Amino acid sequence: MNDMICIRGAIQAENTKESIWKETEQLVRQMLEENQLALQEVVALQFTVTKDLDQAYPAVAARKVGLTEAALSCVQEMYVEGSLPRCIRANLWVENGKKQSQARHVYLGGAKVLRPDLAAKQSKNAFAIAIDGPAGSGKSTVAKEVAKELDFVYIDTGAMYRAVSLYCIRKGISPRDGAAVEAALDGFSMELKREAGQMKVFLDGEDVTTTIRTQEVGQGASDVALLLPVREKLVELQRQMAEGQNVIMDGRDIGTNVLPKAQVKVYLVATAEERAKRRVGELEQNGQKAVFATVLQQIEERDHNDTTREHNPLRKAADAVEIDSTHMTIAQVKEAIIDLVKEKREA
Ligand code: C5P
Repeated sequence: MNDMICIRGAIQAENTKESIWKETEQLVRQMLEENQLALQEVVALQFTVTKDLDQAYPAVAARKVGLTEAALSCVQEMYVEGSLPRCIRANLWVENGKKQSQARHVYLGGAKVLRPDLAAKQSKNAFAIAIDGPAGSGKSTVAKEVAKELDFVYIDTGAMYRAVSLYCIRKGISPRDGAAVEAALDGFSMELKREAGQMKVFLDGEDVTTTIRTQEVGQGASDVALLLPVREKLVELQRQMAEGQNVIMDGRDIGTNVLPKAQVKVYLVATAEERAKRRVGELEQNGQKAVFATVLQQIEERDHNDTTREHNPLRKAADAVEIDSTHMTIAQVKEAIIDLVKEKREA
């Protein structure tokens, strides 16, 4: 059995039912997100509320977020003259296999003044690795390995474009029909969550981690990725996810657009033939039929789409290090990236 750790959070609210619930919901969602927590990893959530907030129990909002199993409680914070008014504080007890030193505490809005030390520490320590490259160059495999070794959060941005693609296909919208995709975007809601050490993709609450891995969904992802409103929506989410924590993010425009200040940028390439060979292997391993010539053609089409599109095309950032993985093992690419991180940290 793992040990429990406690994550702290705080936010201010107005003394109305609506405000107390709205602010609590934001606080709890952010605490879960920043710590990459699944709901079932939460054991208990204790709120303390200053005496000037008496219109609602914050625990009601926590239930709305989905914490139906966790033990919830609300008590009054002791009053000290001059202390921060209208404040909701949270102690989130979780069992996620991490150490207390890895807890990411969340102080929002006016409540940031409670822990300026944490705010400064978080932004100072945040380190970002951006990995860009064409389909099949090994980005996600290597990124997962590096994340595990360095204990970074892995963010697979391709999975986010794939989720939009699946969402459209399920609604009967062609990913190539720009106007229809844009019109449907408002209803799109996805989440990336870490469960048992693995990144899972949820679309409208359903786990679609495996479903988004088909060729059809990948092709659709490449089509929806051409659309500016789709990119804007996803890039904003990606930047939010990277805020204040050590991340390794892979995609096509991470070093050039999403995280231009990433401390390490890698441009990972391999020949189209090698990439097609790897994809065929992957598909066959998942029990799907694959013809090399067709997969190669699809890879070349996606390369064309990705490198020639108008908005944030795939290209090497000026300060990125190019790694050609054609004749390299996963372990070798991983080591090369970890060396770059070490160099930057020691500089
Ligand atoms: O990497 P993956 O094959 O899962 O990505 C699916 C598609 O999403 C890519 O072909 C690419 O067109 C698009 N994409 C993108 N920008 C990113 C990540 C993926 O345009 N940052």
